[in-house]
Amino acid sequence: MERGALAEKFELAKCIQCKKCTRNCPSAKHGGIVPNEVVLGVREGRYEGNPWTCLMCHRCSMVCPKGIEVAGLVMVLRNNEAESGNIPERFGRVYGNFRKTGDTMSIAGAVDEERRALGLMELCRDQSIPGKLDKMSRKAMQ
Ligand code: SF4
Ligand code: SF4
Repeated sequence: MERGALAEKFELAKCIQCKKCTRNCPSAKHGGIVPNEVVLGVREGRYEGNPWTCLMCHRCSMVCPKGIEVAGLVMVLRNNEAESGNIPERFGRVYGNFRKTGDTMSIAGAVDEERRALGLMELCRDQSIPGKLDKMSRKAMQ
């Protein structure tokens, strides 16, 4: 979606730059996304930031005194990036792993050892499942 249309859709003109979204953003606290700057940047047509550092916790939207759906805006920015093929490698890895195994987390060998030491059951390693999932996800993407 084009930036001007985005500003209109999310009513960014209502933003008063109070920075409440940023003060409540866990990502901004650690040098990540700065939601009030995203809003301002999109509104002024100069946003060049990185929407992938957002945790999608929606706190920004919940605290905004003007009712701006900041997290929804960030989601659209991400979708735009993804459509242009700009997906960070780590997300691509998670998605690839999910397609193969149905699991979003890679289970390293060290986890198996820790589980054995703790007396926990062996994790399922059914090799027929990844193939099925991969076929299903390819079908879903057609
Ligand atoms: S909380 Fe709302 S009004 Fe305040 S800076 Fe963020 S988007 Fe703008
Ligand atoms: S949804 Fe993203 S931008 Fe909003 S508060 Fe959470 S991490 Fe920050």
